[in-house]
Amino acid sequence: MARHPLTGRELMRLDHPPYTIDRSRFKPFDQRKNVFGRLIHDKNAPFYRRGLYDEIEKIIDDGRPGFSRVEFARVMGAWAVHDFFHYAFSWEPPSNPNSVMERPKLEKYIIGDTEAMTKMVKETAIMYGADLVGICKLNNDWVYSHDLEGRKLSLPSNCRYVIVMAVRMELERLEDTPTFTAGTETAFAYSKMAFIIACLAEFIRYLGYTAIPSGNDTALSIPLAVDAGLGELGRNGLLITPEYGPSVRICKVFTDMPLIPDKPLKFGVTEFCRNCKLCSMECEVGAISFDDEASYRTVCPSNNEGILRWAVDHDKCYMFWLENGVDCSKCIAVCPFSRITVKRDES
Ligand code: SF4
Ligand code: SF4
Repeated sequence: MARHPLTGRELMRLDHPPYTIDRSRFKPFDQRKNVFGRLIHDKNAPFYRRGLYDEIEKIIDDGRPGFSRVEFARVMGAWAVHDFFHYAFSWEPPSNPNSVMERPKLEKYIIGDTEAMTKMVKETAIMYGADLVGICKLNNDWVYSHDLEGRKLSLPSNCRYVIVMAVRMELERLEDTPTFTAGTETAFAYSKMAFIIACLAEFIRYLGYTAIPSGNDTALSIPLAVDAGLGELGRNGLLITPEYGPSVRICKVFTDMPLIPDKPLKFGVTEFCRNCKLCSMECEVGAISFDDEASYRTVCPSNNEGILRWAVDHDKCYMFWLENGVDCSKCIAVCPFSRITVKRDES
């Protein structure tokens, strides 16, 4: 098993996920409580009804380097697949009445060898553009209680597995944060997510199984990625992977296809974060904790209760995004795990 050069620890597979939950406080997260939900619903939020691009003309007119009209168009272009290809996030199979060729309807494919099918699914996800793939059994703790519109959420009970995928972002572009260049990289990763989940869901459906593709909707991606063995949670509130650190976006597909789950991974992230604190020091708005130890302390209404971790102040973070008219990637770019990386030497 490989050793991570930064932590000196082996990449160890665990029988249980490496997070701790206080059941007396925890309940599944309501998506209306995240920043984008509160932007719509929470009249007390400092960013109530304030979209990221509301001040964009002024920001462009200010003429700061990296904030030009053309560079902003590049951000918008990069979002296109994510924002406009709605089938990517649809629970129902897509249809196209204008298609010249009818897609054949085939019998359900009976899986004889689950191990071989699991390998095939992972290879297919990589083929469609995922950089990392892991599989976990669905833990309903991570499914949102309600979606952004306030509809109660529950996944079909047969969807017991989640294929979780990470899409790598180019560190060099993220380092140019907060500018439209880094924003383009984020947006492009979101569009790649939409592309990959659309293709993978259709692959699974075409074998006769249920597939529910998901980006940031439906369930929390980070704990599912931890369950699926893609990485650990960092002080910056992000998934830290051995291969790309936090320079990834996460997407997933829920399915009833029988698959073999991966085990969660541990390689010393929590221990390293205790002393590092680089993201806390570099965050321009003090949104990341300086506490030595993770705790159950929450710091803004968007933090879920009952999870042992360093809570990030999403209110401060989003206000900074508003100021710049673009998201920030500083806590990804400065993280040592983004540059000192390791490949896991397992099949
Ligand atoms: S994205 Fe930027 S503002 Fe938000 S927590 Fe990270 S460093 Fe701070
Ligand atoms: S910058 Fe340091 S403290 Fe922050 S997440 Fe990365 S390793 Fe952890």
